[in-house]
Amino acid sequence: MTVPQTSKLDDLTNRFREFHRLSLGHYESYTKLYSDYLRTGMRFFEMPIGIVSRISDGQYIILAIEPETMSLASGDAMPLGETYCSVVVDREVTVAVSHAGQDAALCGHPAYREMQLEAYLATPIRVNGEIYGTLNFSSPAARKLPFHDTDVELVELMAGRIGQIIEQDQLDRERQRAMSQLRENTALFESAFEHAAIGMALVSLEGRWLRVNNAAIELLGYSETELLTIDFQALTHPDDLDKDLELLREMLAGERDTYRMEKRYFHKNGQEIWALLSVSMVRDENSKPEYFVSQIQDISAQKRAETELLHRQKQLEALNDRLEQLSTTDPLTQLNNRRALEARLHEELSRNKRTGEPLSLLIVDVDHFKRYNDTYGHPEGDLALRALAAALSDVSRTNDTVARLGGEEFVLLLPHTDEAGCCAVAMRLAQLVSRLEGLRAAITVSTGGATLVPAIGSTRIPTADSLMRRADEALYRAKQEGRNRHCQAP
Ligand code: GH3
Ligand code: MG
Ligand code: MG
Repeated sequence: MTVPQTSKLDDLTNRFREFHRLSLGHYESYTKLYSDYLRTGMRFFEMPIGIVSRISDGQYIILAIEPETMSLASGDAMPLGETYCSVVVDREVTVAVSHAGQDAALCGHPAYREMQLEAYLATPIRVNGEIYGTLNFSSPAARKLPFHDTDVELVELMAGRIGQIIEQDQLDRERQRAMSQLRENTALFESAFEHAAIGMALVSLEGRWLRVNNAAIELLGYSETELLTIDFQALTHPDDLDKDLELLREMLAGERDTYRMEKRYFHKNGQEIWALLSVSMVRDENSKPEYFVSQIQDISAQKRAETELLHRQKQLEALNDRLEQLSTTDPLTQLNNRRALEARLHEELSRNKRTGEPLSLLIVDVDHFKRYNDTYGHPEGDLALRALAAALSDVSRTNDTVARLGGEEFVLLLPHTDEAGCCAVAMRLAQLVSRLEGLRAAITVSTGGATLVPAIGSTRIPTADSLMRRADEALYRAKQEGRNRHCQAP
């Protein structure tokens, strides 16, 4: 390296000082930046021409040229191969030639033949580590002295600074693009949030409303300002709060990502609102929970319809029960009617077949009841029938069935009862009837009993009809034998 002489040293210090000042400059436009650097360089290196170029796709494009009176102008483009800069780009180094005609690399170059530029100092401008273009100075006259190392250093510093400024500018533009994209996305999200048909809210980890959209405001009846001063707990029906809090706890503990529940809120006017709530959680980049996103859908109408349906269903069930009761109950005495008796009889017969237990049936008929009616009138007859029904109920046990067959005829179905038991019931009944109170005259009854004892191994299957018929025949005999008595079928 050549040591600068003392006289040159001052000049060198001055040049670096000027470059330092230049590099501190702030530029509003590339035009100004390039022209300042080019003019300064032209003075520094005593060269009449300066160019900032852009190298792209094998093209050499002039970004700025000094002086402006040159036949070339910014925007002009030519193939890179036709310029000295092709050497700079190929070798990726600074080229400093003081007499091109005597330089092996340049004397045969097309640019030399074309433009006859003898002195040439050029260096790459790097942006993001890539060659972006060149900063070059040239002169049609050869230099008396070769370029000094400090010239090379200085032109590289200048190109480095230009590269930095371009890089910074590109970054700024990139950031601005990203920012405006973000603003656009945020605006889009905001609009989707605000105008969603479903209630939406951002809720703090403690339950405070942070953001609420129009639908949520309408649903809950509070203004936005009012909502932002309270928490969701205050608006939640106490019966639904524990479940809601438990689900939130599970989400905070990382046991679940989202949850959905049907719950009740209180509208500002005090009314309950049924809502389908869907909650998810937003975490920061370190997975730390930040806030909840809640979607609140009003399902009150649906719930009302469900409740109404349930109510209707219950009504219908009650009505069915009542119909069932009516269809099996005798309206005068409230005893089982013939239909209910038949059903019970079938049940008892099949049980009887399984257990082998005896089963008895007693038919009860009021004696001379036509006369009673004729004498005291039909309503008095009804009273007597009701009194008899009560007596029948009194003699019956829990598993017995008491039924009114029709008219003044009744039946007692007596499970687990043999002949003797059947006769005993008939006797007890006769006694009760003889002591009936409140009647216009005493009444008596005749009873016919039949007992079924299934014989083990018997192939005869007893039927309800045969049991009834036998009891009926026994009753007929009791009537024949003078009434107010019991006869038992053989
Ligand atoms: P018997 O001793 O032979 O049974 O004579 P009875 O008069 O009781 O028999 P009958 O079959 O001739 O008459 C039954 C009477 O029962 C006819 C009717 O006056 C009366 N009766 C039937 N159903 C009712 C009713 O629902 N209410 C009233 N008050 N009487 C009824
Ligand atoms: Mg009768
Ligand atoms: Mg009778």
